[in-house]
Amino acid sequence: MTRTVYVNGEYLPENEAKVSIFDRGFLMADGVYEVTSVLGGKLIDFDGHAVRLQRSLDELEMNNPISKEELLEVHRELVRVNEIDEGMIYLQITRGAPDDRDFVFPDPETTPQTIVLFTQNKPGLANSPAAKKGMKVISIEDARWGRRDIKTVQLLYPSMGKMMAKNVGKDDAWMVEDGFVTEGTSNNAYIVKGNKIITRALSNDILHGITRAAVLRFAREAQMEVEERNFTIDEAKEADEAFITSASTFVMPVVEIDGVSLGDGAPGSVTPRLREIYLEESLKKAI
Ligand code: PMP
Repeated sequence: MTRTVYVNGEYLPENEAKVSIFDRGFLMADGVYEVTSVLGGKLIDFDGHAVRLQRSLDELEMNNPISKEELLEVHRELVRVNEIDEGMIYLQITRGAPDDRDFVFPDPETTPQTIVLFTQNKPGLANSPAAKKGMKVISIEDARWGRRDIKTVQLLYPSMGKMMAKNVGKDDAWMVEDGFVTEGTSNNAYIVKGNKIITRALSNDILHGITRAAVLRFAREAQMEVEERNFTIDEAKEADEAFITSASTFVMPVVEIDGVSLGDGAPGSVTPRLREIYLEESLKKAI
């Protein structure tokens, strides 16, 4: 089935959708994005993604070309026409395509922004076999820029990190800066010690995960202890459990770090429970 995508106000078949070669997203990674998951044909945490999108735009002094209501409508229409039951919606907004390449920001009055949305169909997303098996990660240096709290489309280093893991037969990489874990290539990172969930506190060093916020809230509501602080790879190797969170993986166990198995090498008890709570509670609030 040919996907229907959304480009600058139009719904088009994917092979007819076009963006200019002068688009600053293409030339300079001057763009922001969001990924919202779909379960049972409904959007998970749409509000959180819309709020973070606005924050990313504000931080880059970029206008928002679409209202929250319209954005919700476009998300829902794409889910409907593409018949998505489980999957994701990718959204990207760039500073648009000026007449020529120039480092100076174009005048927003004369250069309309580019907005693109498309669906990714992922049947079985919630019931993923990887969630039962757990992931193996390696640690790598965090060589990204200093404003990781802004969700920009500069994803080259995270993509290289994922390849470094893949090339040694592992699933993902956790990035380390000044001796402490920042986050995964496309997810937030956690360890569990006793019944305590430990994850790095929010700052410009990491993306403020929408799934992170929900999972920590549900964990606290379930009387689990949460500590937001830095941790090292050595501490992580000694942990009882570890996991990641993101909109497309929800809560996913990590069972090996740099070749060292955690606990008995299986997902443990806290992580699967958190995944269950997250999926159950998020589905209740899906729109
Ligand atoms: N950190 C990074 C670097 C990411 O790319 C992502 C996913 N886009 C996350 C964390 C998780 O964020 P969210 O839960 O909002 O998907």
